[in-house]
Amino acid sequence: MDKTITPRRISSFFLVIIVITLALSIFAIYSGVTAYISGDTGTAYPSLLIGVSGLALSAYMLFQTRGRTLHMPIKMQPVTTTVLCQKCGFKNLREFQRGDYIFKETEECPKCKEKMQITAIYREAEEKE
Ligand SMILES: [Zn+2]
Repeated sequence: MDKTITPRRISSFFLVIIVITLALSIFAIYSGVTAYISGDTGTAYPSLLIGVSGLALSAYMLFQTRGRTLHMPIKMQPVTTTVLCQKCGFKNLREFQRGDYIFKETEECPKCKEKMQITAIYREAEEKE
């Protein structure tokens, strides 16, 4: 199966690291507990410390990646409505308003007081200067 290129690639890479860190931490805690039970505190404490720090680190990383995906900036591109006067040809561009549709009669023409009509509704292309 072919995986398509997605921007999630970085996230899954992080996820692998998190899982590995988590597994190592659990292993460290496990060996720490085992050492503690057998009375070997000299081994138990460092192992537990490593395990707990690993868990904290992976939790932190998970939080970081979560935050990154959640705060992904979603740019709303402005939608423009073109209003045209059929009589004198006066053209007005304004922000899209709820209920706008093509051929809808809108406000009066400021020039000839004739009803104007929506001729186009489009999403503005992002311009980079
Ligand atoms: Zn007009």
